[in-house]
Amino acid sequence: MKQRITIAIDGFSACGKSTLAKAVAAQLGYSFIDSGAMYRGAALFFYRKGFVSEEHMDLKGIYSVIDQLTLSFRLIDDKNCLFLNDENIDEEIRQAHVAAIVSKVATIKAVRVQLVKQQQEMGRLGGIVMDGRDIGSVVFPNAELKLFVTANVDIRVKRRFDELKEKGIPQTMDEVKENLIQRDHVDSTRTESPLVKVDDALVLDNSFLSKDQQLNKVLNLVSELIKP
Ligand code: C5P
Repeated sequence: MKQRITIAIDGFSACGKSTLAKAVAAQLGYSFIDSGAMYRGAALFFYRKGFVSEEHMDLKGIYSVIDQLTLSFRLIDDKNCLFLNDENIDEEIRQAHVAAIVSKVATIKAVRVQLVKQQQEMGRLGGIVMDGRDIGSVVFPNAELKLFVTANVDIRVKRRFDELKEKGIPQTMDEVKENLIQRDHVDSTRTESPLVKVDDALVLDNSFLSKDQQLNKVLNLVSELIKP
């Protein structure tokens, strides 16, 4: 049997990391985990408890319920959906009220420790593609393939705007841009596991690459790595 490697895909918001990761996983028969969905799920959980909003964050409150945070992925109609206990929250985590607070929640060390543990368990046996901000640096520092994906900001804004529009989530182009810039800033400057390009990651600027071109690039890299 061929070696089943670990592929870490990190990068800025709305770079198409999840789309790429999902396609790579499908081609290789690997599992795919969108770690950003887990941070969004955690943010939604604390938001519903009233411990975080755009204006405030109650760390004491968050610590008091963190043990009740139970996130899992379940396959629904061929789609890997995020569940909070038995509730499918996959649609709600894409909404503006979650996007507005997720990066703030992702700065909390206790939240990261809990999610990273779960992510490492998911990838214990290899054969996984995971995308996020700290996958190559913290979650899987020994991943055989690490990619750092980036793209021109206006192209990213347009892509996210179109994606939200397709899902029927109302947001203006300016709102999308402001949220992306603000999240990138918080993600890159936080103390806990900031978004960084690690030395052994390959940069993939996909501003002018089609989805197929990106997929082929990654598949070529993988076949180099697992050559018999
Ligand atoms: O990938 P996505 O844009 O859905 O991630 C939402 C947010 O979750 C990011 O802006 C970041 O604050 C946080 N995140 C993180 N570490 C990861 C994945 C996401 O801090 N590995």
